[in-house]
Amino acid sequence: MNMPDLCIAKDRKKTEIKYIYNDKEYQPLFKNKKYFLRTYGCQMNVHDSEEIKFYLEALGFEATEVLEKADIVVLNTCAIRENAKDKVYGYLGRCKHLKQEKPDLIICLCGCLVQEPHEVEELKNKHKYVDIIIGTHNIHELPELIMKNNHYQDIEVYSNSDEVYENVKYKRDSKVCAWINITYGCDKFCTYCIVPFTRGRERSRKMENILEEVKELKKEGYQEVTLLGQNVNAYGKDLGLNYDFATLLEEVAKIGIPRIRFVTSHPWNFTDEMIDVIAKYDNIMPYVHLPIQSGSDEILKKMNRKYTIEEYKTLFNKIKEKVKNVAITTDIIVGFPNETDADFKATLDIVKYCQFDNAFTFIYSPRVGTLAAQMEDKIPYEVKQERLKKLNELVNSYSLKSNQKLLGKIVKVLVTEESEKDKNKVCGYTETMKLVNIVGNKDLIGKIIDVEITSAKSFSLDGIVKSLKD
Ligand code: SF4
Repeated sequence: MNMPDLCIAKDRKKTEIKYIYNDKEYQPLFKNKKYFLRTYGCQMNVHDSEEIKFYLEALGFEATEVLEKADIVVLNTCAIRENAKDKVYGYLGRCKHLKQEKPDLIICLCGCLVQEPHEVEELKNKHKYVDIIIGTHNIHELPELIMKNNHYQDIEVYSNSDEVYENVKYKRDSKVCAWINITYGCDKFCTYCIVPFTRGRERSRKMENILEEVKELKKEGYQEVTLLGQNVNAYGKDLGLNYDFATLLEEVAKIGIPRIRFVTSHPWNFTDEMIDVIAKYDNIMPYVHLPIQSGSDEILKKMNRKYTIEEYKTLFNKIKEKVKNVAITTDIIVGFPNETDADFKATLDIVKYCQFDNAFTFIYSPRVGTLAAQMEDKIPYEVKQERLKKLNELVNSYSLKSNQKLLGKIVKVLVTEESEKDKNKVCGYTETMKLVNIVGNKDLIGKIIDVEITSAKSFSLDGIVKSLKD
């Protein structure tokens, strides 16, 4: 049993990163058995689940979407907000009932939630039926833990990691768009955020390994790659070499994959070189997700965000000016401890100033172990809810406005999948990351097509095919 420890997770001793080449082979010992996997949270978790799926299928398990048919259930959890945690425990209740009927069922919990010691204590004491608890740094150990599982709770969570695994295999969800990890962890320690504890210190993959992966994906016919990290701008800083994120982005662009995206960017590390590279290459999409979090300098300081509103505006304007037709989206937290009416008004003001293409908005949720969770907070929850409502109305009005600008225009859309709601439609994304529903069949999937926009809502567009490019 290896228990997590937030103090160890915070204690960043910068030792050399070990690059480990994973060349393990797995036997299909679980043929005719089924797995049910549920993913909570961010793109990082979605991509981790692609690794988990690879291991499960290499062991012989087949996927099922029906919980009751599963022989192993894996919940890949998120710790970013309280409601994400509540959802996991709600689902665990269903798994517990199922296990009473199927005692051989293996229940496995992984992801950020289990990197928190108090959560693991709760699982140990109140949820003994959970068989495997595995942390974000140990996913590669999952096959061994499944093979040796004997229904005694097995807890394997490293608190810290100086390792980067290479040659990781994935069962990717899409044959069109692929995620590529470029960094792991985060050293920013925004005071509200649990990620630096749950995902560990900032570690970059070596550029040659990333470029190899992009080339492989291009060969396989992928149309889009998204470079993934908690803060992609910090890429390379820990390597002490002479390249950074701008260098990497340029090298990826030169490979010639049709579309390149990246998430997420911290405004603090966003360099002029990065902007120049985005502007220079047609295959780097004109879309930047640039979390602002608050419009108040006072709150930004308490959040340890390391930029002021003036600095954010300068960066925002520079990107808008240099990158043609760029769309900028953001994240905003309302109700940070003791956010005043004036602080909140400043947030509304910056939204009016930037007129973001879209914004992901949240009510602040205290996370045990973070600095903000220790701050006194006198703002009633109802006030926070009221603020969120007001903010959403404003944000949605700008999303609608930016979508309406496309009415009647022809835009390039990469078709990614069939529409879930209407089998006569497919959907995909514009270069600026706007969702478009298009009348057409699934032969269009994987193609970049010209689409005329016929109607616009706050969160999506409708369009008709004008011409097929590929
Ligand atoms: S940059 Fe801040 S918000 Fe983003 S993962 Fe790191 S600590 Fe969390």
